[in-house]
Amino acid sequence: MTKSKILLIYTGGTIGMIKEANQPYLKPFNFENILDNVKEIKLLNCHIDTISIKNPIDSSNICINNWIELVEIIKTNYNSFDGFVILHGTDTMSYTASALSFLIQNLSKPIILTGSQLPLGDLRTDAKEHLITSIQLARSVHDFDSALLSNNQENVIKEVCLYFNNKLYRGNRTTKVNSDQFKAYASFNYPEIAQSGVDLKINYNNVFKPVNNNTVFYDTLDDRVSLLRIFPGISKKIVKHILSDDYSKVVIIETYGSGNVLNSEWFLKEIKSCIERGKYVINVSQCPKGSVKMGQYESSIRLVDLGLISGKDITIESAICKSMFLLTKNTNLNDFKNLFELSISGEIS
Ligand code: ASP
Repeated sequence: MTKSKILLIYTGGTIGMIKEANQPYLKPFNFENILDNVKEIKLLNCHIDTISIKNPIDSSNICINNWIELVEIIKTNYNSFDGFVILHGTDTMSYTASALSFLIQNLSKPIILTGSQLPLGDLRTDAKEHLITSIQLARSVHDFDSALLSNNQENVIKEVCLYFNNKLYRGNRTTKVNSDQFKAYASFNYPEIAQSGVDLKINYNNVFKPVNNNTVFYDTLDDRVSLLRIFPGISKKIVKHILSDDYSKVVIIETYGSGNVLNSEWFLKEIKSCIERGKYVINVSQCPKGSVKMGQYESSIRLVDLGLISGKDITIESAICKSMFLLTKNTNLNDFKNLFELSISGEIS
């Protein structure tokens, strides 16, 4: 049996941070030290190469350029490796997973993001298990599952995933939900891809099936995206301000429940003129589980008439990244709407 080749990509985050003497805060440390800290990796039956982005960061600083850098690293190394594991800070890992799922399409091998709540060097760290299991899941030869060995050693996981606290999720379905506990992520609208218990168990029905294996890499995103999160008592002036700025092209409105908004005339008028000025307005619910269903209540029926784009059951992280991606296509409103409402990488049901 040939050994799988895995590329471990380091971006920063708690997983690779240390506390220096006399400093109260954590900061990124030299990536080379990571493998020294986890000697068990050498016991895995695979070949691991490591690479780091130019300037490892706390993921709160992640930006479009970092995502493009990650795409370049994966593109350059795509044919030489069987799978990719990205070590990333937890704060924005769901955004990065979403962005990569649009920037790299029709994957033929896994890209698994992972991080940790406690640094690798900490005695109670969750980083070690995350790192080891992510590497195991990223391997093409899944010797933990005999069913896969007879499968021509072809990868089963062909998507961007996020591994955390014993669960492998579709990355663009995840949201960070807890900054204190080890269970930091949830995927409210899509079931897990795999679980790590005594055995590693892949849920074959839940894996993404790309239309073909012709992997496509994109190298741009458009940042003209803004957000309006409504709340009871929101000021007319603030709504007007957000809906009429002259830079954004997409405005995502974070609505209530199944996509409902206040049906005051002034609010609907602001949305109408925003659309007339050429902006694409998307309805994404503040409710993490469930889907936007415009027209179910009186408080959303007018949005259908105004032609709002339905975010359906997409996460806000994914909606932002998908908008950034689709804007690069220079489409008109109709095409943008059609593309947004369809799944690209399993981000929408
Ligand atoms: N601030 C850190 C980051 O996102 C938190 C973490 O890694 O858990 O980079």
